[in-house]
Amino acid sequence: MHRVFDGHNDVLLRLWRNACKGNDPVAEFRCGINDGHLDLPRSRAGGLAGGLCAIFVPSGDLVLKTPDTNGHYDTPLSDTVSLGQALLEAREIAAIAFRLDQAEAWKICRSTADIRGAIEAKVFAAVLHMEGCEPIGSDLAELETFHAAGLRSLGLVWSRHNIFGHGVPFAYPKSPDTAPGLTEAGFSLVRECNRLGIAIDLAHIAEKGFWDVARTTSKPLIASHSNAHALTPVARNLTDRQLDAIRESQGVVGLNFATTMVRPDGQENAATPLSDMVRHIDYLVNRMGIDCVGLGSDFDGATIPEGICDAAGTQNLVSALRDAGYDDRELDKICKDNWLRVLADAWHEQE
Ligand code: ZN
Repeated sequence: MHRVFDGHNDVLLRLWRNACKGNDPVAEFRCGINDGHLDLPRSRAGGLAGGLCAIFVPSGDLVLKTPDTNGHYDTPLSDTVSLGQALLEAREIAAIAFRLDQAEAWKICRSTADIRGAIEAKVFAAVLHMEGCEPIGSDLAELETFHAAGLRSLGLVWSRHNIFGHGVPFAYPKSPDTAPGLTEAGFSLVRECNRLGIAIDLAHIAEKGFWDVARTTSKPLIASHSNAHALTPVARNLTDRQLDAIRESQGVVGLNFATTMVRPDGQENAATPLSDMVRHIDYLVNRMGIDCVGLGSDFDGATIPEGICDAAGTQNLVSALRDAGYDDRELDKICKDNWLRVLADAWHEQE
């Protein structure tokens, strides 16, 4: 079994929503429930050893616009969220992450040594990620606090506007060049992440913002859960030019399992063959090389192909990749090692 360290999941969002309805998040993660994709029993069954766990403050439920007769859709951007509301909810979500750590249901990892140690000890290795920086004000004071608490990765924006920049809508077919670039606060946030040693995630950002980050950051470019626009032309996927820039920086793209982002027709439909995912991996590897491709499941954040179903099915993708010709050394890189390499760099471990 090739154990997987995964670039993106939304398990904290599910645990927080269910906690608001009275569930105990520690018990839900540790014992598992018949809901969503990721918990301890299912991660063990699927060899999912850990991953980047998002602190994400939703603005209502995202519902994809119904496709027209050509299968095209253009979902409006979600509403913006105020700093006050975002900070309050992010604190609640982060508290669940720390409760899980206290209860030894998982381990919050702050270094790649932590990740390797947790994987060795067969404890789920959780890295705290912030998906959309609405909980951070323009003076970046909250960034210091979240970093001290364990935040090691962030995406400046989710698919909406905020004070740092602009996200892309969920739309097919559509270019990711949908909005202006970073604001002044956005540039400051990039520089502060470099200084503190926080990875910067380019998933969800509009293309001009991508290029603004690329020319500002001193670190390899990361898109934690995005695919190839050439195969699935949704605004959330990366153009060949973007993939080339990620390759030149020796960064990483994590394959998003979301059916809307792997299917050629961009539809939300669980009846999606694993071959669609393998095609994206092949494309990314051909374009960027084997050292720049990882996984970014989006478990608990998207509709996943039925051949995987949930975290317990993670090895079904690994098997499909092996059948497609990837050898053990290449599978180790895709499943885990590329992520550890790029995070070590973002976290100043190699200086
Ligand atoms: Zn996302």
